[in-house]
Amino acid sequence: MGISHAVGSLFCRIRLLLIISVCLMTAGWAGFYLRGSTHNSPKYKSAADNFWRRPSCERKTEDKGQPLVVEETTKEDLKICPALSPYLKGIVPLSFPPSLTLQDVSKKYPLVKNGFYHPENCKSQQRVAILIPHETGEKHLLYLLITYTPFLQRQQLEYGIYIIHQAGDETFNRAKLLNIGYLEALKEKKWDCFILHDVDLVPENDFNTYLCDSEPKHLVVGRNATGYKLRYKQYFGGVTALSRDQFAKVNGYSNNYWGWGGEDDDLHSRVGFQKMEVVRPPPEIARYTMIFHTRDSGNQVNKERMQLLKKVSKVWKTDGLNSCTYKLLSIEHEPLYINITADIGKPEY
Ligand code: UDP
Ligand code: MN
Repeated sequence: MGISHAVGSLFCRIRLLLIISVCLMTAGWAGFYLRGSTHNSPKYKSAADNFWRRPSCERKTEDKGQPLVVEETTKEDLKICPALSPYLKGIVPLSFPPSLTLQDVSKKYPLVKNGFYHPENCKSQQRVAILIPHETGEKHLLYLLITYTPFLQRQQLEYGIYIIHQAGDETFNRAKLLNIGYLEALKEKKWDCFILHDVDLVPENDFNTYLCDSEPKHLVVGRNATGYKLRYKQYFGGVTALSRDQFAKVNGYSNNYWGWGGEDDDLHSRVGFQKMEVVRPPPEIARYTMIFHTRDSGNQVNKERMQLLKKVSKVWKTDGLNSCTYKLLSIEHEPLYINITADIGKPEY
């Protein structure tokens, strides 16, 4: 064998080796990519499927609802959408472009009108009103709407987003604002399901369905700020879903929690008194990102909360939806949401 022949065959081998390694690398990348792009859905789908095996308070085909102030827009001959929409993606990275405005978002989603949306091709399982008590800057709201508008549409929900504002500068009362949201929203449409929602929590996984269950549902198992761990066993704050009847059965929230804390534990007790059980989606699904904030000045810790919590069993039937007095100042239908402003009075103690 001559030198040139030996060198030639060495090159041949090197070339072969190179071709094989390129092939292996390409196959490896392709496998990785395919797994990465599809692993979310089946995993979350089966977890969500198991969760959804419990009977839900689905909208019945014959239940046409009662359109009140707002005209019914859903075509009645449409089929009911599935409990798990085929458009779900699993975890969708959150992005909050700093230059984005509400106008940009509403232009992008022209199908949301006057704060309402309904799917075009099927009838939503439930009519869902999202109630958000809100006093702080508009940025939180913008972040929430950027995420929510596509999120709720992927879930094929008929929904309305109500932002409930407290007029004046009295201490904040989250619970009373949510009661007002419930009462006022029902004057517009016969909503089946109410999502009681803090403005600073953004959902990470769209398999966390914003539908009500046969029992009151707590949607925040974990949030990034607390290592995605449930705060405590009875924790029922942040984002909860109660059907119209469940919320009425517990007489809504207490109206007497002024300042931070306690009102969500009070609601948890009410649910227990009515022999209902809190359900939660699997932890890998019920995850939220908290938009960082410091405690607002109008929302000091409520020092009365422990005393109030001791009395829930005695007062819940007379303190709640049936005793919620307020002066409605305005209801404004913006393209993506509805603003409700009310004068809610001040603490009696
Ligand atoms: N909130 C508000 N303005 C306030 C205080 C509270 O809009 O001055 C609303 C807002 O929706 C917030 C929720 O009430 O997400 C709960 O308050 P906060 O987030 O301070 O409670 P925490 O997350 O500490 O439980
Ligand atoms: Mn918060």
